Amino acid sequence: MSKPRKLMIPQDRQERLHYMRRMFPQNPGADLTDDWVGGRAAALKRLHEVDALTYGRNRNFLNGAVTRLSPYLRHGCITLAETVDHVKSQSGDHGAKLIMQLAWREYWRQVWYLKGDEILADMETPKVAIGRRPLADDIRKGKTGLPCMDGFIKNLLQEGYVHNHARLWFAAYVLHWRKTNWREAADWFEANLLDGDKASNHLSWQWVASLFSSKPYYFDKENLARHTGEKYCTGCKVQCPFDDSYENLHDHLFGDTLSVQPVQYPPVRPVMPVVQGLNAFALLVHDEMLSPAHPLMRRPFTKIFIFDDNVYAHWAIHRLQFMADCLSEMPDVEVWVGDTREVLMQREVGRIETQDTPNRELKNVLSAFSPTWHPEPWLVDVEVNPKRLKRFSRYWDKVGPYVLGVAAASQTSAASRTLHKTEVDA
Ligand SMILES: Cc1cc2nc3c(=O)[nH]c(=O)nc-3n(C[C@H](O)[C@H](O)[C@H](O)COP(=O)(O)OP(=O)(O)OC[C@H]3O[C@@H](n4cnc5c(N)ncnc54)[C@H](O)[C@@H]3O)c2cc1C
Repeated sequence: MSKPRKLMIPQDRQERLHYMRRMFPQNPGADLTDDWVGGRAAALKRLHEVDALTYGRNRNFLNGAVTRLSPYLRHGCITLAETVDHVKSQSGDHGAKLIMQLAWREYWRQVWYLKGDEILADMETPKVAIGRRPLADDIRKGKTGLPCMDGFIKNLLQEGYVHNHARLWFAAYVLHWRKTNWREAADWFEANLLDGDKASNHLSWQWVASLFSSKPYYFDKENLARHTGEKYCTGCKVQCPFDDSYENLHDHLFGDTLSVQPVQYPPVRPVMPVVQGLNAFALLVHDEMLSPAHPLMRRPFTKIFIFDDNVYAHWAIHRLQFMADCLSEMPDVEVWVGDTREVLMQREVGRIETQDTPNRELKNVLSAFSPTWHPEPWLVDVEVNPKRLKRFSRYWDKVGPYVLGVAAASQTSAASRTLHKTEVDA
């Protein structure tokens, strides 16, 4: 654990990228590419480029009109509510498909609030025989020999962004064809994504595994070839493991009688003694609220962000560089690296305010500083019975009418019920 150090995030972009590389020499991965610039200004630019109508038609294709907004939403550069407002004002009812997808993010988050660390372990009994093998090296390195899977791994390691459909194919390959332990795969995947998020990521892996869905997600060659425009299949010389009927694939993948007992991974978390005798007060800026427009930024308090080694040590460097971009727009915020508790104590902070989070790890550390948790901005402020959080379709039946307006909601509710039919909507 390094001693607390204050960082001076450079304003110049190239300098900033180099600076972060120098400050975090141990973090793995490639530098942030020019396609990705963190921060609210870049988020708003991207938001104004969203084409919701085309998105609704072709979002499952690799070259479809997906928004690439996830890293910005993940870090709070923009909120779901302002994204939905924009989509509605630009596209009216044609924005319904995109708005429903945006609601998936809030849905997973609500599940995280409700279940806490339980989302990091098997949520339900698996519906098929799943494996528990360690994540193999050829997968980690993108050397499986399958051009499609290696292409997706390259996207992940080089860029930190993978299209939703590719995430589904990849997770299905890793879990069902390679019988990998989902938790290990999910942890590795999250650490390399720009949008890495415990709720959206770990629960999606569980959805694919059949641990948080009624059946496993898998696919055939035709599905992948069609939605990738044959990008990887043309010229592929490998005996394709996906080239079979769904029935045969099902028998082949799930014929074994492996153990279907749920596995638990209890978090190891020390109890944090309450800090005493320190009187300073600070706004703790965490990684879900990286926006100068955040209402709490208007408060006249010392504002502190900490790259905590306990959380960020295994994250890819491009993710930290993305966050540095965000922080460069927030000159009022002191940026530190070190252990959160030590940094706050060095700054003589005894009490903090911050935005609420379902992240129990962060909550545990901050519990020692008499925290005031301000509610995060929700897309829709409506009471949802926990039973509805068992499945997205039930959640959407309730919240859809509030988000969309009743007429459009009934249309997409029908669509959400066919999720498992199309199997690409998670
Ligand atoms: C195995 C797996 C792991 C995933 N890990 C993450 C993750 O760590 N962080 C993350 O934000 N998303 C994750 N997703 C969900 C989804 O793949 C990404 O949000 C999406 O691909 C981001 O690209 P986009 O912004 O271009 O999405 P778009 O298709 O343009 O969608 C717009 C926005 O809607 C939200 N959204 C769309 N689909 C989903 C979904 N299925 N679940 C949650 N939100 C959704 C996202 O905020 C996204 O930015 C994962 C999905 C799978 C299958």
